[in-house]
Amino acid sequence: MYSAAIVDLDGVVWRGRRLISENVEALRTLLKKGVKIVFLTNNSTRSRLQYAELLSHILDTSVSDESVVNSGYSASVWLRRKHGERRVLVVGMEGLTVEAHLQGHRVLDYESWEKAEAVLVGLDRGVTYYKFAAAHKAIVRGALFIATNTDRSFPVENGTEPGAGALVDLLVSSTGRTPVFDAGKPNRWILDLALEKIGGIPTDRIVVIGDRLDTDIEMASRAGLDSILVLTGITREAPSVGPRGMRVYRNLMDAVREGIFDL
Ligand SMILES: [Mg+2]
Repeated sequence: MYSAAIVDLDGVVWRGRRLISENVEALRTLLKKGVKIVFLTNNSTRSRLQYAELLSHILDTSVSDESVVNSGYSASVWLRRKHGERRVLVVGMEGLTVEAHLQGHRVLDYESWEKAEAVLVGLDRGVTYYKFAAAHKAIVRGALFIATNTDRSFPVENGTEPGAGALVDLLVSSTGRTPVFDAGKPNRWILDLALEKIGGIPTDRIVVIGDRLDTDIEMASRAGLDSILVLTGITREAPSVGPRGMRVYRNLMDAVREGIFDL
């Protein structure tokens, strides 16, 4: 039985702006019964604190930013731990800039691209040629090219939209360089940050919950963790084969009803 869960957001808690009510209900139950939950998302558009506030509101309980790991945080922590506090150029939204600041990096304006020691690339709905040109020049000049994640698209209410990976691809194409680091799922680095937040719970009591085989489930499988694939996001049908330790449910409420959590 599981006493902790690492839970994805897009396709699990919400799809676009619509909440996924069965999953929300299940998460409320798990939190009420004391199951430790850390939310783990490749989405860097919001800061961890913004996600925590949003989740507190949705789940009717206080969710701390220490229970949220996103790829903006993951990328910013990686840069600090491996290379120290740096001058960075951000192609991304406010949430990514905030996480970079919180890790002690100095976020430059685009005219100052020559001073950039690293370029952080995340999903940016206001991306312009001007930003790309600054990032391109900084990377060509030798700045570390860091991707928050390489998901090329992600689900919204009525289909999919281009993801951070599509923006990364543009810079790969223009510079001929590939990112030195991909901070998102399925990489072990971001899972380890989530496990740090979970604390000392044995790994056989932790389950990873997500809607994507190529990120959530792949990450869990590589690390030897059990996983739950919910069919509420990008994956709509149970796959015929899956890795060891993966269970498939229509939604998270079905998993809770089956009694696999320590309640
Ligand atoms: Mg997802």
